Amino acid sequence: MARLNMKALLPVGLVVENVCTRNGAIEISARSTASAASCPCCGRRSRHVHSHYLRHLADLPAHGCQVRLLVAVRRFRCMSRRCRQAIFSERLRPEAARPWGRRTTRMQSLVRHLALALGGRPAQALGRRLLLCVSKDTFLRSLPAVSAVDMTEPRVIGIDDWAWRKGQRYGTLICDLERHRVIDLLPDREPATVEAWLKDHPGIGIVARDRNGGYAGAVARALPDAVHPLAVCAQTAAGQRVADRWHLLDCAGSSP
Ligand SMILES: [Zn+2]
Repeated sequence: MARLNMKALLPVGLVVENVCTRNGAIEISARSTASAASCPCCGRRSRHVHSHYLRHLADLPAHGCQVRLLVAVRRFRCMSRRCRQAIFSERLRPEAARPWGRRTTRMQSLVRHLALALGGRPAQALGRRLLLCVSKDTFLRSLPAVSAVDMTEPRVIGIDDWAWRKGQRYGTLICDLERHRVIDLLPDREPATVEAWLKDHPGIGIVARDRNGGYAGAVARALPDAVHPLAVCAQTAAGQRVADRWHLLDCAGSSP
């Protein structure tokens, strides 16, 4: 009889370090199988590990228990002298988890399908039977990501950073400028996070953004055909440069 290969049970790109039970749940310690990671700012590969942190991901229940993945994520040093990103975190493969996700991709897919089939409260009730620790609000929040792509793909967006807590933690705000509404809040303002989001929305043709170089790189990599500001400049050329009023005024040294 062939021995069970634990690696085959995990999302692709992860390998098991340890398995234990804690408070009635199965806890799997894992790490990425990649030997190096690419800097999200300049793209240069690095093998120089700076530090580690643990990322907690809820995975599909098994054997009547909840399953938690504790992934040891590495922070790498970018060795390019020209790069402004001195340290960056490795990204898990999209089949494993999204950059800001709290669940594995397969778990998130199950949550979304339950929400689509049942709605928030019934999905929560059935989810409890299935050992999914997910609130009805979380079930409902899983829906717009699908419908936004399928039904109302944004074409013109604005990107800017905003403070979860001023001076401590910043995220990224994304607005649909045609519908005049916020369509997503990203947990940080790292270029890789923005790039991953933009790649999920290939229908975007115009991006208004500030002069943050990280955002510029993310837009260029994810949507090379999109129109967005090309340089630090208050003068626009129709069809070539797009900047919102606040940043044009800010660029010109005026108050918004
Ligand atoms: Zn770099």
